[in-house]
Amino acid sequence: MLNLKDPSLLRQQAYIDGQWCDANQGQTVAVTNPATGESLGSVPHMGAQETRRAIEAANAAWPAWRKKTARERALILRKWNDLMLENADDLAAIMTAEQGKPLAEAKGEISYAASFFEWFGEQAKRIEGDVLEAPARDRRIIVTKEPIGVCAAITPWNFPSAMITRKVAPALAAGCTIVLKPAELTPYSALALAVLAERAGVPKGVFSVVIGDAKAIGAEMCANPTVRKLSFTGSTAIGRLLMEQCAPTVKKLSLELGGNASFIVFDDADLDAAVEGAIASKYRNAGQTCVCANRIYVQDGVYDEFARRFTEKVKELKVGNGMEPGVNQGPLIEDKALVKVEHHIADALSKGARLLLGGERHALGHSFFQPTVLADVTPSMLISEEETFGPVAPLFRFKTEEEVIALANDTEFGLASYFYARDINRVWRVAEQIETGMVGVNTGLISNEIAPFGGVKQSGLGREGSKYGMDDYLVIKYICLGGM
Ligand code: ADP
Repeated sequence: MLNLKDPSLLRQQAYIDGQWCDANQGQTVAVTNPATGESLGSVPHMGAQETRRAIEAANAAWPAWRKKTARERALILRKWNDLMLENADDLAAIMTAEQGKPLAEAKGEISYAASFFEWFGEQAKRIEGDVLEAPARDRRIIVTKEPIGVCAAITPWNFPSAMITRKVAPALAAGCTIVLKPAELTPYSALALAVLAERAGVPKGVFSVVIGDAKAIGAEMCANPTVRKLSFTGSTAIGRLLMEQCAPTVKKLSLELGGNASFIVFDDADLDAAVEGAIASKYRNAGQTCVCANRIYVQDGVYDEFARRFTEKVKELKVGNGMEPGVNQGPLIEDKALVKVEHHIADALSKGARLLLGGERHALGHSFFQPTVLADVTPSMLISEEETFGPVAPLFRFKTEEEVIALANDTEFGLASYFYARDINRVWRVAEQIETGMVGVNTGLISNEIAPFGGVKQSGLGREGSKYGMDDYLVIKYICLGGM
């Protein structure tokens, strides 16, 4: 079992209105370690009723929370940040146990996750209104920003901590309260955050965690008129459904959905840097991130050399239980993920792709998969259309800049893209023409709390993190002062 310095961080109950509680009918669901198949414990399996209770508590807590000064809210968020960093080892161990990512990556995520509390706490003090030039002398136009109100958040399992703080931090900083439904596969990271929220002095009802039946909880969050805003990170299919369910109550939405990131290597690129960037972008979290390189386009002149150097480096990745030192790639989250990866590989091979490395389930069993490299991949293959969400790097060949821009943009998604080039004119040209919300130039890692994270096209709505991230939790009020 898990060996934690502070075992009280591992909670097996949900957290509603400042109370640790079970499901109304007492139902529970088990949580499994994907690296070992062992059960880590269980959590309540809740539904609409418990969700309604959490929403009512959030509504009751809202007036007092929004009345606090920005500094008072910021101090609580700072405390929450500090507690996360003080408990980083335990939080990382909990994450690796339930999610599978290597411990070093989990630790990295904890500090990334905490950084949103620090950043948005500071930003709380910089929510600014405006006074505009009026069309008549006897008037004044005043613009203020107010917290939108009770928010709901639904988060995925691939970043069990950071996807939560990226929503909760701006919500609380803005003066909103929030009810969270974390992914059912990774509830313990969310509950550990609730333990620390309590210790940081977050008042009861301001932050609640409801766990259980995703469909029922989601439906209640969408239909309940008290909830003014929903923030979701997950698949495009569920994002569309939630958007539909939010239509009757006209909720403000933030959606961070699927990606199909292109990673382009031009013939003037620093090849070693491109190899390093491609590995970081592709194999992080075993390929299970929405900004992972999903299509690697390499220009004709450097294709063979890139493929050789890339495959050599991928061979060095160590697969294993994320708790063990030196492991670079943990298991996939569940068996279903393996099936999709196998399907994408089989489809590519049947249409003429060449296997350079891997291609099969790993000898370690469970949901481990070999780091895989495919060459001669073409747009007619499934892997070019859909997110693989696994450790498979497909290498496409291209000849010209125009051709690769058209290929990169030929997708319904528009989250992240990457390219490696040295020619400064090309860098500008390509960066401007790529249709994604984020572009990494000569780097494979782009996420941090200061930068705006989000997509265009069917990859979503809104931006998270950065000075823009607070806007999603604020509404503008215009006050017209007349008859002066
Ligand atoms: P993934 O493929 O990453 O699991 P999902 O979109 O299925 O993507 O899951 C992301 C989050 O959405 C999880 O918290 C999951 O429980 C939740 N979810 C799944 N189905 C629904 C639904 N019908 N309504 C609300 N939330 C849902």
